[in-house]
Amino acid sequence: MRGLYIGRFQPYHLGHQAVLKKIAQEVDEIVIVIGSAQESHTPENPFTGGERMEMIYAALTEVGLRERSVVTPLQDIQRNSVWASHLRSMVPRFDVVYSNNPLVIQLITEAGIEIRRSPMYQREQYSGTVIRKLMRENGEWPLLVPDSVADFIREIGGVPRLNAVSRSDRD
Ligand code: NAD
Repeated sequence: MRGLYIGRFQPYHLGHQAVLKKIAQEVDEIVIVIGSAQESHTPENPFTGGERMEMIYAALTEVGLRERSVVTPLQDIQRNSVWASHLRSMVPRFDVVYSNNPLVIQLITEAGIEIRRSPMYQREQYSGTVIRKLMRENGEWPLLVPDSVADFIREIGGVPRLNAVSRSDRD
């Protein structure tokens, strides 16, 4: 049985990691899909599809799930009505989708694919929006992501980049 977990992962954090560990108890293999893969270098989407892929593989290695997982990027498309077939056409086969995103739940359900929601883990802090804010404010963001992800973000200069793309020419 193969489960698919989709997210933007900007960045991949400990809430995502908790969901993933739960999914790993329910299925044999996991397809992790990086949504909005075309986006990067913006305040909401600082990291490229490839960088997010590296983050996730590093985090999977940390928890011993790399052998059972495949990570693949997926670009957005303009038409929500055909997104589920776009997804199916671009990624390895899967039996069930895991998401708490209301639009994803709606589109996958309409396509007749099984969907499972996962519990939320400390959503007030394990949130991409909160983590990107802490990055801009020089806060304790590394505590909210797996250690390997924090190392990777430092290595690629993720925080200076986020600060740069968040500035305007009036700053
Ligand atoms: P996300 O990175 O915000 O979250 C990924 C998943 O993790 C979600 O199910 C979310 O609910 C869950 N999560 C987040 N924090 C958590 C926590 N603390 N505890 C437990 N679970 C937590 O990504 P997302 O916004 O759900 O990603 C959906 C992707 O699908 C986006 O890239 C979107 O663009 C794409 N999409 C595209 C189309 C289209 O192209 N037309 C349509 C639908 C969806």
